[in-house]
Amino acid sequence: MKIDFLLIGGGIAGTALGYRLIQAGKRILIIDQASQNQSSRIAAGLYNPVTGRKMVKTWFADRLFPEIEPFYRQLEKETGSSFLRPETIYRPFISIEEQNEWMGNSSEASFEPYIRELVTESQADTINDPYGGVMLKNSGWLDIPTFLDAFRQKFSKYFLDHKFEEENLEQKGNVWVYGELEADSVIYCNGVSAASSKYFGNLPFAPVKGEILELQQEFCPNYIVNRGVFRVHLGDGIHRVGSTYTWHDLDLGPTERAKNELLERLQGLVDLPVQKIISHKSGIRPATKDRKPFLGKHPRLEGVYIFNGFGAKGVSLVPFFSKMMSSYLLESEPLMMEVDIARYFDYI
Ligand SMILES: Cc1cc2nc3c(=O)[nH]c(=O)nc-3n(C[C@H](O)[C@H](O)[C@H](O)COP(=O)(O)OP(=O)(O)OC[C@H]3O[C@@H](n4cnc5c(N)ncnc54)[C@H](O)[C@@H]3O)c2cc1C
Repeated sequence: MKIDFLLIGGGIAGTALGYRLIQAGKRILIIDQASQNQSSRIAAGLYNPVTGRKMVKTWFADRLFPEIEPFYRQLEKETGSSFLRPETIYRPFISIEEQNEWMGNSSEASFEPYIRELVTESQADTINDPYGGVMLKNSGWLDIPTFLDAFRQKFSKYFLDHKFEEENLEQKGNVWVYGELEADSVIYCNGVSAASSKYFGNLPFAPVKGEILELQQEFCPNYIVNRGVFRVHLGDGIHRVGSTYTWHDLDLGPTERAKNELLERLQGLVDLPVQKIISHKSGIRPATKDRKPFLGKHPRLEGVYIFNGFGAKGVSLVPFFSKMMSSYLLESEPLMMEVDIARYFDYI
């Protein structure tokens, strides 16, 4: 079988890039196997323009955010499925100073696309928000497992359920041979597994473990609450609550320590008893040392590429950067220097 692009990994990165290449009429195959770490299937799927403890506009938001909803809406149409959930995110202020700072922000044109409303009073007895907070727009969450399953069902001929073994990939002339497959190019979209690849393993990955709960709790406003921890209503009183960030214990799976940390933080935000814990999962985010994605071509090998390093923000990064990567692959358009792996060629 002869193809143009062999993609390793069918998480949100491989799926989004695969879609762009299919749209361009390319012959592709996505090798993916569920037994590997699948950050995308654990993720809460939030896209949030204001993040971090300091509540700042997320990196490159003005270019990323206009692409998010149109991209996933297009995929909903294409697959006949529903997985995009635009929702307000409510971020309580932690001090009167922060409230004042946001009063200033709200009059700036650069914040206009993201601020739905500023509130200076508590929104509910059960929320710890004595100074009010900011209601964000252009935000929400993507039901990633439904998206991935719907895509895989619609485009099943482009998928191979198989564990990719790098030692079986061989360069013969100007093609890459893998078993019966002959591909002009191979693209590593395999999340944190790329950190152990012989081609890209020396890039400065900084994998981050995350844990997340699903639980039952009363009080279901029609917005996501997010400060130190997020709580997303999934329906029927069930909420997703996350996430933790750790750079160690990567192999341990879900831990009691992280569960308690999440429950404590939740208690500090929504003061109501948890009726039942429904699930507790963990995954490894494919994060990088400089917190910017890894896009580009191997410095010495023709036809070997990477599309990876989406860290904690795959849902908001992938629509914009899959477009940039496909223009780079198909039309030789340059990559942005901040994401091009050329910044780390000394390492490879
Ligand atoms: C707890 C938690 C919460 C998160 N919350 C959010 C959030 O709210 N919003 C957000 O945007 N992001 C969130 N993330 C981050 C998000 O999960 C990542 O940004 C994104 O999923 C990365 O996608 P990816 O496709 O690069 O990697 P992955 O999803 O890990 O995909 C890699 C794929 O490659 C496959 N693979 C790997 N090796 C092989 C092999 N040898 N053979 C075959 N297949 C292979 C795997 O099976 C997998 O399907 C969260 C992550 C965690 C862990």
